[in-house]
Amino acid sequence: AAKAGGRRTRRLFEPAMDAALQGRRALERDLREAIAAEALEVHYQPLVATGSLAVTGCEALLRWRHPERGFVSPATFIPVAEETGLIAAVGEWVLARACREAAGWPGGVRVAVNLSPAQFRTPDLVGTVARALAESGLHPARLELEITEQVMLEETTANLAVLHQLRALGVRIAIDDFGTGYASLSYLRVFPFDKIKIDRSFTAALGREATAVAIVQAVIGLGASLGMTTVAEGVETEAQLAALRRSGCGEVQGFLFSRPVPATELRRLLGEAAAPWTAAA
Ligand code: C2E
Ligand code: MG
Ligand code: MG
Ligand code: MG
Repeated sequence: AAKAGGRRTRRLFEPAMDAALQGRRALERDLREAIAAEALEVHYQPLVATGSLAVTGCEALLRWRHPERGFVSPATFIPVAEETGLIAAVGEWVLARACREAAGWPGGVRVAVNLSPAQFRTPDLVGTVARALAESGLHPARLELEITEQVMLEETTANLAVLHQLRALGVRIAIDDFGTGYASLSYLRVFPFDKIKIDRSFTAALGREATAVAIVQAVIGLGASLGMTTVAEGVETEAQLAALRRSGCGEVQGFLFSRPVPATELRRLLGEAAAPWTAAA
């Protein structure tokens, strides 16, 4: 009976799996073409100080404008880039691009770049980062690298060594999407991050669940006692901002202040934001 069931299951799901696989192959082929045709862009989203609302940094977020599919989300194509090894080239390009762009921003403004776990499997991530800094002239303290828990889960010893070497370059290291992993707390014991980015699912729950406030406050307190800055992602409402202010969160990032915008638009925003940022209505 198990065998028959298995056969039936396979027959039912094979067409769907084929379609999914073909979809991924098409995506992979298109992504290769996009890299060659330079159809990828980096957009930037400001991070602002919770008190003054001054811009402290901007996160570089990859964008792909596809001729037929339109805007393709990084949530869709980053996994494909990781599986196919394309992430090495894409990641190197984003780093170089973001550092060059940030070198032209006002002095105090940092740039945050996301690193994928697959980039930690490339032979010379530290060299790649060092080159991006040297070629752009960006001061290392103005580069922040965001990593996710996946990096801490995989090849822990090797990845930890790379994190320490990156830190030795003078760059800052942030842990992204904090609180969504299986063992988020344990990573704080293993590596002294400069910054904790509280996942936007917690921010979204702030007005709705009393427990979310308690968790966010605990993370902020933890960060403070470990000497780490805390950032809340995905801030969309004044009420969320107020709750984060009360909780002592250091920085905030979200649509309330700005969506990720193209480099030219960001430059204009930074020019205007010499005076403290005013939250969008
Ligand atoms: P992430 O690093 O956690 O980036 C934050 C995501 O939240 C971005 O999505 C941003 O547009 C979105 N976001 C910001 N503020 C708000 C808000 O107020 N509300 C809501 N609903 N969303 C907000 P995006 O740009 O689609 O990127 C998704 C993920 O793709 C990123 O999550 C990151 O993990 C990955 N990614 C993006 N660019 C790169 C890259 O250059 N390299 C790598 N390795 N990963 C990247
Ligand atoms: Mg990020
Ligand atoms: Mg994040
Ligand atoms: Mg996220």
